[in-house]
Amino acid sequence: MTARRTYRILFIGPPGAGKGTYAKHLEGRLGVPHISTGTMLRRCVAKDAPGAEKVRYHLDRGELIPDNMMIEIIKRRLSEEDTKNGFMLDGFPRTLVQAKMLDGLLDSMGLGLDYIFNIWTPYNKIVQRALNRAHCEACGRIYNLKNEDISPELLCDTCGGKLVRRGDDRAETLWHRLEVYDEKTRPIVEFYSERPQFHEIYTGGPVEDGLGKMIDIIEAAEREHDCA
Ligand code: AMP
Repeated sequence: MTARRTYRILFIGPPGAGKGTYAKHLEGRLGVPHISTGTMLRRCVAKDAPGAEKVRYHLDRGELIPDNMMIEIIKRRLSEEDTKNGFMLDGFPRTLVQAKMLDGLLDSMGLGLDYIFNIWTPYNKIVQRALNRAHCEACGRIYNLKNEDISPELLCDTCGGKLVRRGDDRAETLWHRLEVYDEKTRPIVEFYSERPQFHEIYTGGPVEDGLGKMIDIIEAAEREHDCA
């Protein structure tokens, strides 16, 4: 892929549709950080940072963290140097309030979004996948363990870190998270859908298919940009 100036990318879509998986795959290729608000929050709980109790309360129930708290977190993260040429936001925005705030923040910096990938997978597939999901606690790589049981011997192929499961990847919490998505997050799809940067990506098939489609979209935009 040719060097493009900026990659300010949003991954939106239901929990478990693969936002993190696709962002991780693109991270090395595009050279911009993958920012998962869910991972940031889980780290805050694991470190027992200030406010961790409140965060844990919402995470364990599959509920959203209040907008004001999320907005502070994202403002701070987007002010860091490594986001200068872009970022891949995975899990933010999740409400209309957050989406409008992000527009305002980018506007105030004279910036805009380059790509908005709305990824989707049928809900029964999402639940099945998430129940089999584990991730490396060191580098965040996501694994589909199929029917194997997670055991302490399982280590990450990339970095040797320990594979762990998320506390909220349980059937009851997952279905609830999908309801929360329908009610609170789905409206942002409409909010963004008329923009030229918006693209629907089906992620119910092999990862290479969805990934290939994203890369095609990025390359086509770059070709257009180069000829402009
Ligand atoms: P994820 O890893 O993106 O599935 O997020 C896991 C959990 O973190 C969600 O179920 C929410 O409780 C919380 N969370 C992550 N991002 C946000 C956000 N933008 N707004 C509110 N809560 C969030």
